[in-house]
Amino acid sequence: MRPLPHPLPTGVALLYDPTLNKGTAFSQRERDTLGLQGLLPPRVLTMEDQLARIIENFRLKPSDIDKYIYMVALQDRNETLFYRAVVDHVEQMMPIIYTPTVGEACQRYGHLFRRSRGLYITAKHRGRIRELLGNWPERDIGVIVVTDGERILGLGDLGAYGIGIPIGKLALYTALAGIHPAVCLPVMLDVGTNRKELLEDPLYTGLTQERLRGKPYDDLVEEFVVAVQDAFPNALIQFEDFATQNAFGLLARYRDRVCCFNDDIQGTAAVTLAGVLSASRVTGHELVEHTILFQGAGAAAVGIADLFVSAFVRDGLDEPAARSRIWFVDSRGLVVDGRDHLAPHKLRYAHKHEFLPDLASAVARLQPTVLVGVSGQPGAFTEPIVRDMARFNERPIIFALSNPTAKAECTAENAYRWTDGKAVFASGSPFDPVELNGQRLVPGQGNNAYIFPGVGLGVMASGATRVTDDMFYSAALSLAEYADEGTREEARVYPSLTSIRDVSARIAVAVANEAYAANLATVPAPDDMMARVRSLMWDPVYRSYV
Ligand code: NAD
Repeated sequence: MRPLPHPLPTGVALLYDPTLNKGTAFSQRERDTLGLQGLLPPRVLTMEDQLARIIENFRLKPSDIDKYIYMVALQDRNETLFYRAVVDHVEQMMPIIYTPTVGEACQRYGHLFRRSRGLYITAKHRGRIRELLGNWPERDIGVIVVTDGERILGLGDLGAYGIGIPIGKLALYTALAGIHPAVCLPVMLDVGTNRKELLEDPLYTGLTQERLRGKPYDDLVEEFVVAVQDAFPNALIQFEDFATQNAFGLLARYRDRVCCFNDDIQGTAAVTLAGVLSASRVTGHELVEHTILFQGAGAAAVGIADLFVSAFVRDGLDEPAARSRIWFVDSRGLVVDGRDHLAPHKLRYAHKHEFLPDLASAVARLQPTVLVGVSGQPGAFTEPIVRDMARFNERPIIFALSNPTAKAECTAENAYRWTDGKAVFASGSPFDPVELNGQRLVPGQGNNAYIFPGVGLGVMASGATRVTDDMFYSAALSLAEYADEGTREEARVYPSLTSIRDVSARIAVAVANEAYAANLATVPAPDDMMARVRSLMWDPVYRSYV
């Protein structure tokens, strides 16, 4: 348990400290001892009473964005109650505090702005980043989520408004894996924005300049990473929602130097591999029998493809054979050898094959068993394409992963309807279950939140100094194993969100074991890894202060 601050604030200062405030749940003894008498309504409520009020008000809010604002306000005044609400009502809360609602919140961040959260490091702070990190009140930071706001979900460049994403992701580290909020630090690396509407928006909260590029950009990130090593030597850095080239570049530059990963590349890869593994149990395939076609060839697609290649290799294929089972269609058509201007990250999947101009022709010719949408192009999985998938697959695996919901390549309902309920479907943002011909079909949500909180917890449990692909592979296997426990009936590829803290704990054990196996751990190995992991998980309950 974390020590309480000494001396403990009293009176109004205590009520205005969201990390300590319990509101109407302060006991009479606490009210007497801590100078609170008279500052609160007289009746003492339990946390359960407070929670009932929160949920009642949450439900009364007319729109999702109103629910988001309401929950942010709760987080700002009583963190323990906020996390209790998220943990106990995770299925309702996740789509609000994270995708899809967080996307809308980011688009309007300056207009919804009430209170600052997280650390803003801007291009103007060059040379002073270590000093800024020193302004953060906590010294023992365990996880940093950092973005430069250039590719927020599928919404593009939102500049400083992108801060909502690190805040939301860290809330999930706490709610889903029990990582204490005090050790979580959201960071906005504000290097400007190229979005004209934002630059012209009088309420825009960020730097009103064009994005920094090239060496000045690289130097700023380098200063940030070096400063973090000095200020917070135990921190895991999660790079989040960077544009494709920077996402790959930063990961390549830092993955062997510091404890870091890129969730859009590696987290997405693990959650998708887990989904295909459990879908394969439904379709009756061995993993190596799959041919995977991606719509989109960016950070997510290449990350997923790379992890599939290593999984295929583990299952016995050589690397060229493994790569030959993976294909990309990007905005110009099938990625093939000899095509002009192919970005470096696509080259290893540019096969010798006739060029095909679009997804429909690629599906017809390549006859994939798995179709993965990571292009941010809503409706790209058209009826003829989805029907075609069902023509040569008894159970086509269709993952429409683009976020938020409005960007999905197809809806759950269409995927099921066009395949007569045969599709094994998952999406990035949630879709409701679908009733078709008397059958209830439950779409999976390939949400990275199944993976990254557990990875962070595993890194903390082992004191790992690096994050490796093997850790993500093991995380995927753990998730797929968990999903297989009792979900096959509904062709569901991910476990229910209600079990997510257990999922995170299992993933953490798998990740920590990888850290020990690879000699990357820095704390002595425990006899019982699950017990260590559980001991690190914070449960949001009130503590007595007297
Ligand atoms: P990215 O910008 O790196 O890649 C997008 C890719 O789509 C690019 O290769 C681009 O060429 C391609 N594209 C654009 N228009 C196209 C078209 N008309 N046809 C075919 N391809 C086209 O972005 P990313 O990080 O790879 O993310 C892509 C999408 O995946 C986003 O919507 C994001 O929200 C989603 N995503 C989902 C999850 C998840 O569900 N777990 C995780 C990560 C990313």
